Amino acid sequence: MSKKFLVGIDIGGTSIKMAVFEDDGTIIDKWEIPTNKDNQGVSIPGDIWTSLENKLKEHSIDPKEVQGMGVGAPGFIDSDTGSIYEAVNIGWKKNFDLGKQLQALSGLPVFVDNDANLAALGENWKGAGNLAENLIAITIGTGVGGGIITNGQVVNGSNGTAGEIGHIMVEADGYACNCGRKGCLETVTSATGMVRQAKEKLKDNPNSLLKTPLEKNGDLTTKDIFDAAKEGDAFSISIIERVADVLGLAIANVATIVNPSKIVIGGGVSKAGDQLLIPLRKAFDSFCLPRISEACEFRIAQLGNDAGVVGAAYLVKQKLS
Ligand code: ZN
Repeated sequence: MSKKFLVGIDIGGTSIKMAVFEDDGTIIDKWEIPTNKDNQGVSIPGDIWTSLENKLKEHSIDPKEVQGMGVGAPGFIDSDTGSIYEAVNIGWKKNFDLGKQLQALSGLPVFVDNDANLAALGENWKGAGNLAENLIAITIGTGVGGGIITNGQVVNGSNGTAGEIGHIMVEADGYACNCGRKGCLETVTSATGMVRQAKEKLKDNPNSLLKTPLEKNGDLTTKDIFDAAKEGDAFSISIIERVADVLGLAIANVATIVNPSKIVIGGGVSKAGDQLLIPLRKAFDSFCLPRISEACEFRIAQLGNDAGVVGAAYLVKQKLS
C-alpha cells in the first residue's frame, strides 16, 4: 500500500484545525474541532485521533496510507521529543508529551513544532514564500509570532525558542508582555499594542477621527486606525508610522542575521496590505544594510488560517525525506 497522504494539525486556544492532504499539498478535506481545555487539556490528543480516524474512514483512507502527522501548537516546544514545555492558553504544563501520545494512539510518525514556525513553513511551501531558502515570517495579530527558515529548514534552536521575533525587546522599560518581561516587540506592534497606544494617546489628540468609533463601539480595532489614516487622520497615521518604525528596525536586525530573500507578513493586521507594507518597507530600508535590503522582498501572507495545517503537512514531508 503506497503512503500517499499527509495530515496537518494546528492546535489553537479555541479550535483545532485539521486537514488531510495529497502528497503534493492538495487539500482533500479540512475541518475544525473545539479545543477542550478542561483538566489542563488532557483530552486533546484523544480528541484529535478520534476525529481524524473518523474522517479517514469517511474518505476510505486506511491509516496505513498516511505518511505521518504534523502538529503545530502554541508555546515553547521541544521539536525533537514533541513535548510542549508550556502552552499557557491551552493549559499544558511541564513537558506535556503531545507527540508521544499521538504516536501511541495513531501508530503514525508524529512531528510537533511551534505554530508560528509551521505557519512560516506553510507560507513557504504553498503561499507567499515560493520555497525560498531563507525567509522570515511574521504574524501580527493579538500577539506577534515569528518563524525563520534558513537553508529551507525551520530554525528551532537548542530548546525550541528560536525565531520568537515578537519577544525581541524594543523598549527596556516598556509595557508588560505576556512572557513576563517588559517592552517586547509585540507590546508595541501587535493589534493589542496598536489599539492600546491609540487609546492612551487619544486624549491628547481630541480632534482625531478615532473618537467616533471609540464612542460608538466602546473600543477600537486596528481596522479603525487604518480606516482613519486613509481619511488623512494625522494621529492614526502617526501610530501606524511608529509601528512601522519599530517593526522595521526589529526586522532589519533579524534580516542582518538571516539574509532572507522573502519577508512574509501575515495575521489580522496584515489585511491592511500596502497601508502597512509601504511604511514598513521604508522604515526597514532606512535601517537595513543595503546589501541585505536589496536581496529581499516583502510579501503579504496568502494562506490565512490554513498556513498552520499546510506547514504541518510539509513538516512531515521534510522529516521523512
Ligand atoms: Zn515578551
